[in-house]
Amino acid sequence: MGWIKDRLFPRKTAGAGSAGLCDCCNDPLERTHAYYLPTRDIGLSQAYWESAFTLCKGMIDMLDEQEQLWCFGENLRLTASQRNPWSVCESCGEFFVFDRDTARDHAVRDSRPSGNGAVDPSGCVLFAAAAWEHVFGRWPANVTPHAVVDTCDLCRRNIHSQAFSFTVSHSRMADFLAAGVVDGPSVSAAGPGKDHWEMCQPCMGRIVARCHRAGIGSV
Ligand SMILES: [Zn+2]
Ligand SMILES: [Zn+2]
Repeated sequence: MGWIKDRLFPRKTAGAGSAGLCDCCNDPLERTHAYYLPTRDIGLSQAYWESAFTLCKGMIDMLDEQEQLWCFGENLRLTASQRNPWSVCESCGEFFVFDRDTARDHAVRDSRPSGNGAVDPSGCVLFAAAAWEHVFGRWPANVTPHAVVDTCDLCRRNIHSQAFSFTVSHSRMADFLAAGVVDGPSVSAAGPGKDHWEMCQPCMGRIVARCHRAGIGSV
């Protein structure tokens, strides 16, 4: 199934910014405007996996179930095996929660972030599977299911057992609204059923990135 591999998987440019492209979306990216992240951060991000699967959804939809599951496994394995840092653009930076000053510094100096290197795919499979479920509407059949233990109060994504979720107080949410880092109408349409907001990793990554740009603290 080599042709599938050639056509489906974004060609990661081995980080180090050598080709001047974002390793997530392949847009042109100057190193001085990049963030360098270790493979570990990529693999643990449900938002990253959602973007990767969305990019190849049209092709994957044309395959049979067995080929689709093979694609899932190969994508997971190839992503986890990356030894070089990932060069990430401002827009794709919303997929991750990380220290932006440190990651920018590594990009500018072309140095390796701490924790850099290949990772065990089994540590990332939950986040990739949750993303697959979000993009394709079903959990990948070759992955052990995780129970849905909660729902994101902001976007209604499923939150699975052992996945990351974030708790935000009402007063913090008011700060986010005032700073314009969350969308007011979606907040009032949603609303938590408890004394705090429970949020999924994709929502939290976006909020943290916007707080950084707005110059306010996110926690
Ligand atoms: Zn990008
Ligand atoms: Zn959410």
